[in-house]
Amino acid sequence: MQQLEALGREAAGLAAGELPLSAPEAEVGRQMQICNACRYCEGFCAVFPAMTRRLDFGKADIHYLANLCHNCGACLHACQYAPPHEFSVNVPQAMATVRGQTYSDYAWPPALGKLYKRNGLALALASAVGLALFLVLLLLAKGSLVTPPLAGNFYAVFPHNTLVAMFGAVFAFAVVALAVGVTRFWRDVSPGYATSGAAVEAAGRALSLQYLDGGHGQGCNEANDAFTLWRRRFHHATFYGFMLCFAATCVATLYHYVLGQSAPYAFISLPVLLGTAGGIGLLAGPAGLLWLNLHRHPLHGDSRQKPMDRGFIALLFFTSLTGLALLAWRDTSAMALLFAIHLGVVMALFLTLPYGKFAHGIYRVAALLKYAVEKRQPSSIAAGAE
Ligand code: SF4
Ligand code: SF4
Repeated sequence: MQQLEALGREAAGLAAGELPLSAPEAEVGRQMQICNACRYCEGFCAVFPAMTRRLDFGKADIHYLANLCHNCGACLHACQYAPPHEFSVNVPQAMATVRGQTYSDYAWPPALGKLYKRNGLALALASAVGLALFLVLLLLAKGSLVTPPLAGNFYAVFPHNTLVAMFGAVFAFAVVALAVGVTRFWRDVSPGYATSGAAVEAAGRALSLQYLDGGHGQGCNEANDAFTLWRRRFHHATFYGFMLCFAATCVATLYHYVLGQSAPYAFISLPVLLGTAGGIGLLAGPAGLLWLNLHRHPLHGDSRQKPMDRGFIALLFFTSLTGLALLAWRDTSAMALLFAIHLGVVMALFLTLPYGKFAHGIYRVAALLKYAVEKRQPSSIAAGAE
């Protein structure tokens, strides 16, 4: 039996332990062979220079290239072999399909990854509604859902230690699940070490979203072959909005534990200013991304992933909306209700972070790091030619 399996692997050109390619992976492999002969798009993004370092495309290479692709759409609109040509080359779509597969392949626990892939939007909204409802009912049972104005004193609704325990558990789960996923991905695509120079280069590219510029600075293709920088701008608003909100939480933690100053903080205090600026970014960014998602050219991506994309966008948007509403009405009798709803949405966001679009950012940074490491090494193809 083992001999037969070994013969089958040999016939398929597979090394010991290597899994056969799935149909979407084989399609990326086919298209990369055509692109490797053509190379017209070499200057568009990191995918094509990385491709030229290879003659064959195994599973790990394909996962790496799929996550290196930023789905800008430029190579589809430039391609003379795009559909309806018989070669039917559509690199953004082929890469997007494999990318979606990698989110669930590397996810931990795997069952949650598969569930989220199939029902992303429904699962995101159901978690937010379910958790918010649970907290509302909890307050109702305690008789503290509607109270006289508490001057924004959140700890009168949920004690500080209860909040720390709830969010500590959810945050720790998200960090562990993401860390397991990205470690598996990194082990597969790049067994090796990154230098500090490579790490700095990859971080710079990730933070500037360099490869959403279409290779010429004019931006991505969205609904048609016109270039636009709006996707890059909305991504930046979303990412930096998220980071400002995170910074607000960190500063508030320092105020609490180091300076001994408990919430609520004044409207002009650092935690509130950071949170407000971040909240505005987290409203504008996801709203813009949803608009682009609804109008995206059908050939650009994998339409089956749209519910997953929209689930993440919706949770980000409602996290910000409920947070800003809580800030605006924190000194009213509606504060406890708004607080419970906001907490439910934030917990749903963090619980689903490892399975949807947030994970794509982490895997993409890992792919950019591999690219920065790889380009510092001699190409095995060039070495073989010498
Ligand atoms: S996408 Fe098309 S034009 Fe670009 S390198 Fe591949 S085959 Fe050539
Ligand atoms: S869609 Fe954009 S990022 Fe992806 S391979 Fe094509 S040019 Fe590169």
